[in-house]
Amino acid sequence: MPTEPSTPRSDQPTDQPTDQPTPQPAARPARRDLLRTGLATGAATTLGLAAAPGATPADRTLTLTGHLPTGAPDFLHLPVEVPEGVREIAVSYGYDKPPVPAGTPGNSCDIGIFDERGTDLGGSGFRGWSGGFRTEFSLSRSAATPGYLPGPINPGTWHVVLGPYQIAPQGLAYHVEVTFRFGAPGPQFTPHYPAERARGRGRAWYRGDCHLHTVHSDGRRKPEEVAAGARAAGLDFIVSTDHNTSSSHAAWGPLAGPDLLILPGEEITTRNGHWLALGLKPGQFVDWRYRSRDEEYPRFARQVHRSGGLVVPAHPYCPYVACQWKFGYEQADAVEVWNGPWTYDDESAVDTWDGRLAVALREGRSWLPALGNSDAHSEPQVIGSPHTVVLAEDLTRDAILDGLRAGRSWLAESSAVTLDLTVTGHGRQAGIGEELTVPADAPLDVRLTVSGVPGGTVRLLTDEGQMHQESLSADGSGTVIWRTTASLAAYVRAEVRHPKADGTPGRGNSMGPDLPWGPMAALTNPIVLRTGDR
Ligand SMILES: [Zn+2]
Ligand SMILES: [Zn+2]
Repeated sequence: MPTEPSTPRSDQPTDQPTDQPTPQPAARPARRDLLRTGLATGAATTLGLAAAPGATPADRTLTLTGHLPTGAPDFLHLPVEVPEGVREIAVSYGYDKPPVPAGTPGNSCDIGIFDERGTDLGGSGFRGWSGGFRTEFSLSRSAATPGYLPGPINPGTWHVVLGPYQIAPQGLAYHVEVTFRFGAPGPQFTPHYPAERARGRGRAWYRGDCHLHTVHSDGRRKPEEVAAGARAAGLDFIVSTDHNTSSSHAAWGPLAGPDLLILPGEEITTRNGHWLALGLKPGQFVDWRYRSRDEEYPRFARQVHRSGGLVVPAHPYCPYVACQWKFGYEQADAVEVWNGPWTYDDESAVDTWDGRLAVALREGRSWLPALGNSDAHSEPQVIGSPHTVVLAEDLTRDAILDGLRAGRSWLAESSAVTLDLTVTGHGRQAGIGEELTVPADAPLDVRLTVSGVPGGTVRLLTDEGQMHQESLSADGSGTVIWRTTASLAAYVRAEVRHPKADGTPGRGNSMGPDLPWGPMAALTNPIVLRTGDR
């Protein structure tokens, strides 16, 4: 599941570069000065900078302070003049947390940094983002805190970027300390990007989790722990989707292997919803600093498409602040209808997705495939629960993305669940994500075979809704056959549900005050049925 709005915490992961001296204390302005500074415009206070001639200068720290009222912009770009000869930049920050009544947002502020190449939207100056997960970070030519990009520390105007995610009625008083450590730059950082292919089994069904976080954003797992978790979950591929940064891409090379394909990606976290960019080019960064009304999203979706990647709105009904999807589906290649443990917002996502299938078929557009991902950040969230099982020509980046794009896929809560769905009739057969064109009244046998869902209930659904319900045996396996025609059903899809908490299988087509179904165990993309004489 997505993480709730986070606040900086003291129990940070301990994988930051280790050879850092303790930041020098910096002068702090009195509180009344903080409140008076009025930095909603991005002006900053600069203290204590003086270059010493001769030998390597001592560390220098400058402090940026300000007070943001409610209604401050989504992002503040605070300019920082980086002098010549800086080996490493270290940043720490904090802000006040005045008490607020229950139901009123308290202060929460994200942070990141852009270098001398500037802060233009979609520009090349991005050097890292840690959201609200860290209170300090550093970067140099050789290394950087996860979430940040190692590289040249060039002189010029850099910008610390604040994202005041929530502002209390009293406002938000922040202080940012930027320390310059001087000296010769270290050796150049070498990224280790993952290969675009793994061994594979030729044309086959491959299991993958396309939404995973690490310490490079707000997860607590290191990349090696995520790779181990993916292997333990029986996955063939994963996509790395840390929030608003590409820094993890360089870590995956040694962790991929013949048995595990790892694709670079990003979760673009805006104020109007989150989207997954799947299959980015190594090191490719996608900007997130816009809302739906800014009309910037389509060009970033195009940027991902130009790279051959997929645009996938994530957890569209997640109730957390800024998590509901408000950009529409015109640019999307798929939609994440199942995110982490099954919850009511997933029901809403499946209902909306299902409603759009018939519209797409009527309009002759390609329909939007469903995706299921764990969005796992940390223990005890389970990598691969759920995941997507995709029919691909091989275990390569392009083949996996093609299969996902085509909707030749179904969603599983774990690799213990197996499933096969076909429609057969008039001497023809189609599988998940495929089309079958047959005479309107030709009898069609819908056949679902499933295992791994003890006490489960199979639902077969068409554009009319649920048309058939059948319980599986106690061992969780079985085959269900139901007959229809292309004139009666524009598409057929299947769900396999666990029993409800009271042990009942679900209420079929009836109504009631509680949720009608137990948690999802598997869900297929549709088989499209078209009428035609030949
Ligand atoms: Zn998210
Ligand atoms: Zn996520």
